[in-house]
Amino acid sequence: MSDLRVRFAPSPTGYLHIGGARTALFNYLLARKEQGTFILRIEDTDVERSTQESVDAILQAMDWLGLSYDEGPFYQTERFDLYKEKVQQLLAEGKAYKCYCTADELTTKREAAMANGDKPQYDGSCRELTPREDDAPYVIRFKSKRDGVTSFNDKIKGTISFNNQELDDMIIQRTDGTPTYNFVVVIDDAEMGLTLVLRGDDHVNNTPRQIQIYQALGYAVPEFAHVPMILGADKKRLSKRHGATSVMAYREMGYLPEALVNYLVRLGWSFGDEEIFSMDDLVEKFTLDNVGRSAGVFNPDKLLWLNEHYIKTGDPQQLGTLLEEYLQQLGFQVPADIDLAEVVKTLQDRSKTMVEMAEKAAFYVCDELEYDAKAQQKFLTAEQKPVFEALIGKLESREFNAEGVEAAFKEVLKETGLKFGKVGQPTRVALSGGTSAPGIFEVMLVLGRERTLKRLRAAIERIG
Ligand code: GLU
Repeated sequence: MSDLRVRFAPSPTGYLHIGGARTALFNYLLARKEQGTFILRIEDTDVERSTQESVDAILQAMDWLGLSYDEGPFYQTERFDLYKEKVQQLLAEGKAYKCYCTADELTTKREAAMANGDKPQYDGSCRELTPREDDAPYVIRFKSKRDGVTSFNDKIKGTISFNNQELDDMIIQRTDGTPTYNFVVVIDDAEMGLTLVLRGDDHVNNTPRQIQIYQALGYAVPEFAHVPMILGADKKRLSKRHGATSVMAYREMGYLPEALVNYLVRLGWSFGDEEIFSMDDLVEKFTLDNVGRSAGVFNPDKLLWLNEHYIKTGDPQQLGTLLEEYLQQLGFQVPADIDLAEVVKTLQDRSKTMVEMAEKAAFYVCDELEYDAKAQQKFLTAEQKPVFEALIGKLESREFNAEGVEAAFKEVLKETGLKFGKVGQPTRVALSGGTSAPGIFEVMLVLGRERTLKRLRAAIERIG
């Protein structure tokens, strides 16, 4: 075990999105690589916007991606006593103060500052005020440093410095008594012993404020690493306009978690020109040194390409189990005698997503075959009838295995003098309803003797 302690700290105000998943993945990989500790903390202090549904969705998505954590999930709403205690400590030490400015006053001040061309900061008017005795509503503000510089050495971006003048006295406790993000995040990161805070770079501007709070509370300041954001192809911040941004939407669309993990890690990290990484590879190879400073651009085609790769190379047994779920979503119940691993073997070279595979697998498992009208018209013709009858006869008299099926077919070709395609394609239509099914022998073996014969007979009946 190393001392590395990292965390993922999502706010449960929606599903787990692509950017959050990448942050979680980077933290997970570092922890696994260094044999450190990965903590999950649910930042639900914004009680109005946080929902249990979002918590569940985030946990489910992490589970799906295989991002297991060692401690947590912790919930900030269960830690309010601790935060209150720390507010009191800062008040007692004169490092925080009650601010009685009303919303209207603040708006007026902000507007005046902006009219003057100044930054709309809180002017600190309550900073040196003696606390009032009446029960006027107040917020509690942190007394931030007035001059000097707060800097930190970001492990991805290098040294970042802020003039303390730029930082006004931020609110650490709202009028209703609830604490704010920038305050509690410090207490939790410190109390949970984090050694590195790795998060999205939308938090860079919060970091100097947070560092001052670490210092005020007498905590050691952890290291920071801010990951560049993810953009769409148009170089604008990734949003729904660019396609699905929810991790679980990709599952629904038939993506494998291996593909998404592989894709996400490459959004910002590289290892030479390698593109394919299993989770084990990543645990071995991932370092912050190879995380770039520029934003990653989301490329759905590349994700699809990776998905195709993982489907092609996946274990048929495992993919078969998954395929069953996708078939059920399409409304199909898989008959007990259909071996889905065998189905997968016939389709994994021709499916980019599991949804596509399920669509292509439907003919194997359906009760009532649906025939493509054109295919039926072209291939289920009167002259086909004796051919199917001959094939049924041959199949009935042989063992139903690879050799038997092939031999039956060959005999029919020999007796009828027809070319393979002339028998193969109509048979494919009879067995699958269309012309694009996998190899005819494989199809027969997956369907099994009874189903194959039944479908050939049904085709004869259709021909009439
Ligand atoms: N809860 C914050 C968010 O979801 C992250 C806080 C952090 O990583 O420091 O944006």
